[in-house]
Amino acid sequence: MSTQRTLDVGPEAAGSLDAYWMPFTANRWFRDHPKLITGARGVRYTTSDGRELLDSAAGLWCSNAGHCHPHIVEAVQRQAASFDYAMSFQLGHPEAFRLAERLAALAPDDLDRVFFTNSGSEAADTALKIALAWQRQRGEGGRTRLVGRERGYHGAGFGGISVGGLGNNRKAWPSALLAGVDHLPHTHDPARMAFSRGQPEWGAQLADDLERLVALHGPGTIAAVIVEPAAGSGGVIVPPVGYLQRLRELCTEHGILLIFDEVITGFGRVGHGFGAERFGVTPDIICCAKGLTSAMVPMGAVIVREEIFEAFMTGPAHAVELFHGYTYSGHPLATAAAHAALDVYETEDLFAQARDLEAQFEARIHGLKQRAPITDIRNIGLMGGIDLEPDPDAPGARGMMVFERAFERGLVVRTSGDTIALSPPLVITPRELDELFDLLGEALDGID
Ligand code: PLP
Repeated sequence: MSTQRTLDVGPEAAGSLDAYWMPFTANRWFRDHPKLITGARGVRYTTSDGRELLDSAAGLWCSNAGHCHPHIVEAVQRQAASFDYAMSFQLGHPEAFRLAERLAALAPDDLDRVFFTNSGSEAADTALKIALAWQRQRGEGGRTRLVGRERGYHGAGFGGISVGGLGNNRKAWPSALLAGVDHLPHTHDPARMAFSRGQPEWGAQLADDLERLVALHGPGTIAAVIVEPAAGSGGVIVPPVGYLQRLRELCTEHGILLIFDEVITGFGRVGHGFGAERFGVTPDIICCAKGLTSAMVPMGAVIVREEIFEAFMTGPAHAVELFHGYTYSGHPLATAAAHAALDVYETEDLFAQARDLEAQFEARIHGLKQRAPITDIRNIGLMGGIDLEPDPDAPGARGMMVFERAFERGLVVRTSGDTIALSPPLVITPRELDELFDLLGEALDGID
């Protein structure tokens, strides 16, 4: 554990904070309260002024193997020194094919074909494009509608924000949203499920809303439904018992593809390779990213059923089958990072470790109930959400206060409005998990 100052960023460097327009950030607040990270290792960060911080968010739900894991560092360094990049259209490299095989093996059933992207947003957009194109390909071109869910997050692209259900992410672009999109209701009803541990008992019937949409628009109009098995960015919303099963049944019955956006729930976050396994429901398409490389190099992937891929394999063999892709699909550096991250998950048995830590995580997160005005706490795997009662005069202010107070005490927490989302790296030890909740408890104590 190093407390060494790694970089001095004094007031004279403040001007350098001007040019970068930060994502999903209160830029003016940041400029006045800069928080600069200059190092990371395991479950800790080092700040520009030499402080150590415990990371309760695994970066942004992504550094599942912990920061700078030596095996992943070494793999990327080795790769960078030997083969940086080759054209990704009409050329390939062996490790990308091998990685696709490993992902297919991790995914359930016959989800055996893998399309690589660079991010979760691109994975979500790719999945939606494949779904629409597949319906056309199989002679169901009338299926042009997409269904998302309230409070869902599928990245920041136009496809993702269209099916996403977070108002703030959509309201600036009303005219640019995809046409023909509906949303299922979200499944968080505090009146019925506040402070539930794991999956709430109530709420499976909320999936039935899909029948209403089928009846409203007519059969043969909906191409795909996209949901996060457990919603992350919308505030950690755990699927009610039986909900995903019901959604699966309805999609199958009505010829609709079911897409699980597992950008957060993949790679151990809920104690398994994918949420599909944890919840016992197999979708037709899985989107993933984040933990795929443990955030060492950006990468996303879309894993589809064999049948979906095969439907495109028609026409002359020399012709491109799907006019979609990215310069950096299967980038060698990202591929190396993903292989190494998967190695670490296997050799350190991190998905099982997440399962082992779940009981402690659950007990400690629910133990925070009395520490502040809190209206709900919920958890699944190593992800948890805490809703602070919003200050009626300043919604979001309490969340920001917790963020600042935690930071002062040596803890990074992810807050979104008045919701705190916890998702520690899977390598966290029981002792570090206790430290995390002790620090968070202290940060909450001052909130009234
Ligand atoms: N999908 C889900 C479920 C996510 O949680 C996220 C990011 O948090 C994304 C998509 C977008 O991923 P990215 O930020 O890598 O584009």
